[in-house]
Amino acid sequence: MDFELTHEQRLVREMARKFTDEEIVPVARENDMQCRFPREILQKMAPLGLLGTIIPEEYGGAGLDFISHAIVTEEIGRGCSSVRTTLSVQVSLVELLILNWGTEEQKKSYLPRLCSGEIIGCFGLTEPNAGSDVASVSTSAVRNGDKWVLNGAKTWITNAGVADVAIIIARIAGTKRHEGLTAFIVERDKVQGYETRNIENKLGLRASNTAEIILQDCAVSEGAVLGGVGDGFRLAMSGLDNGRFSVAAGCVGTCQACIDASVSYARERVQFDKPIGSFQLVQDMVARMVVETEAARLLVYRAAHVKNKGGKSTLETSIAKYFASEAAQRVTYMALQIHGGYGYSNEFPVERHYRDARVSTIYEGTSEIQKLIIGRETLGLKAFY
Ligand SMILES: Cc1cc2nc3c(=O)[nH]c(=O)nc-3n(C[C@H](O)[C@H](O)[C@H](O)COP(=O)(O)OP(=O)(O)OC[C@H]3O[C@@H](n4cnc5c(N)ncnc54)[C@H](O)[C@@H]3O)c2cc1C
Repeated sequence: MDFELTHEQRLVREMARKFTDEEIVPVARENDMQCRFPREILQKMAPLGLLGTIIPEEYGGAGLDFISHAIVTEEIGRGCSSVRTTLSVQVSLVELLILNWGTEEQKKSYLPRLCSGEIIGCFGLTEPNAGSDVASVSTSAVRNGDKWVLNGAKTWITNAGVADVAIIIARIAGTKRHEGLTAFIVERDKVQGYETRNIENKLGLRASNTAEIILQDCAVSEGAVLGGVGDGFRLAMSGLDNGRFSVAAGCVGTCQACIDASVSYARERVQFDKPIGSFQLVQDMVARMVVETEAARLLVYRAAHVKNKGGKSTLETSIAKYFASEAAQRVTYMALQIHGGYGYSNEFPVERHYRDARVSTIYEGTSEIQKLIIGRETLGLKAFY
């Protein structure tokens, strides 16, 4: 493993950094306050290739490697976790699932439009009674002539209220647990019986859209099946593997934003006639923030390295996601602490980062689920539930 970024990766970082500083940071606070989904930011990201980092050029993407993909995700996450969450779902879940599991026709039909921002995607797995236990999904898919008819409800789906296309995981009627789960690509404008209801008043990610999806006799064609009938569980797991990687990279960005804000504040803020950064206990917090962030970044790059080689990266990805998301809790806490009372208001960005970071140990598999995966992969034994 090479610890130096390549020339191309450095250029990607410069470009994503500049974009974040010019287009995302200045509006992040206002969008958070207004709970406003910033669609115009996505439109500006597309021409730079930021909506299709990892997707091959033949399908409209930028054809970058996984380390570049992590760098972009980190930089966007440094500016705003709401935008980063939208991006994670669009690229790491929806686009990569279609790239890895789709037919040539599906790839040609959806990927260029997703990469250009013409359409927004979402990934509908979670249900009111199926969260960590993915195999308990109960949304049903029943064959009717040459159609599949979907019935059920999805909840906590990022982008669902603004998405044009959804990957829905449903159960072929009569099957149990992992067997029979199947993914369907549902185009909102082309079906009946597809409703969404926004979830309001979230603790954080207020500029990210989160919604329920209600499917009532929603008929889709045979061509809507993504992967094979019965492949839904494996497909969902492979999607989460890439989604988790993206969350981990985004958490590194959140941590970096907290370091930048805290260093600047600790140099300026004077108490006892000295900048607070000169107090050893404040330096202790800064040092711990830096170590947490560097360790998280290296774990993300290590997972990216394994992904670049095309190998199985479940263990490396779960280690990176677990560590980076838990590090983000500690780092955002310390950043707010360094800001004292001012950190408790949205005058400074650390308050938003603190709230936004909280979900990272929950979505794309909780920290407990990551530990179960790490334990299983290490022991070769599935934990007993
Ligand atoms: C803002 C936001 C955006 C989201 N976006 C999406 C999305 O785009 N698509 C999507 O499909 N879902 C999405 N989710 C859902 C998310 O993935 C789930 O919330 C998550 O998987 C946890 O499921 P749950 O909330 O049902 O919690 P539960 O599974 O009910 O877990 C509750 C608690 O029990 C623990 N627990 C559960 N099982 C075990 C076990 N076997 N051993 C030990 N502890 C256990 C959990 O770790 C947790 O602490 C989103 C959620 C949020 C909050």
